[in-house]
Amino acid sequence: MSARDAYLRAMGIEAWTLRAAPQPLSMPRMPVERLDWTELEQVVSACVRCPLHLNRTRTVFGVGNRHAEWMIIGEAPGAEEDRRGEPFVGRAGQLLDAMLRAAGFDRADVFIANVLKCRPPRNRDPQGAEIAQCAPYLARQIELVAPKLILAVGRIAAHHLLGSDAPVGRLRGTVHRLGAAGVPLVVTYHPAYLLRSPGEKRKTWQDLCLARAAMVAP
Ligand code: SF4
Repeated sequence: MSARDAYLRAMGIEAWTLRAAPQPLSMPRMPVERLDWTELEQVVSACVRCPLHLNRTRTVFGVGNRHAEWMIIGEAPGAEEDRRGEPFVGRAGQLLDAMLRAAGFDRADVFIANVLKCRPPRNRDPQGAEIAQCAPYLARQIELVAPKLILAVGRIAAHHLLGSDAPVGRLRGTVHRLGAAGVPLVVTYHPAYLLRSPGEKRKTWQDLCLARAAMVAP
């Protein structure tokens, strides 16, 4: 098994087995990989698997078309997302919407989720232990959506999904393959970064073109 596969397995991308999931008694006591959408949303909303549950306003499960062709994966909720319970809202969300429209999609056409479902304090980077606890939920979402294309938005999502610590600038521009199903995965910059570095928007357009081509490629 390659280092990447070992990492993905450790993160629960392929082997979604949760042997010690501390789910509340009222929640279904099933491994995450067997939960349906309703059960998964219930379990996430009550999750106390990592300390981030202590300061959240609400969990941010993910939104959009649960049978989408494109799945957009970011890193973690920010303050506005924590308040509203929806990923990618505010200015970064508006920019993501514009990016999607440029690629021919409305926000409702795609499924949008984060690696973490709860906001890290002061919007710090997610920690490895938090990602390890939360990863099975994202893995199950990917399995349920079964997208034709995953767009990893930003460094944290790209690093988690690809098991790499390379800069986004080196990970973008290539069609990666995720898991045993080999789902095409394209990396691009996070809209929050693009708001700070608008000169990089042109590269994001290139990434979206690559993603569109990857989706139709055999
Ligand atoms: S971040 Fe994920 S693992 Fe941690 S409490 Fe929230 S839902 Fe649970």
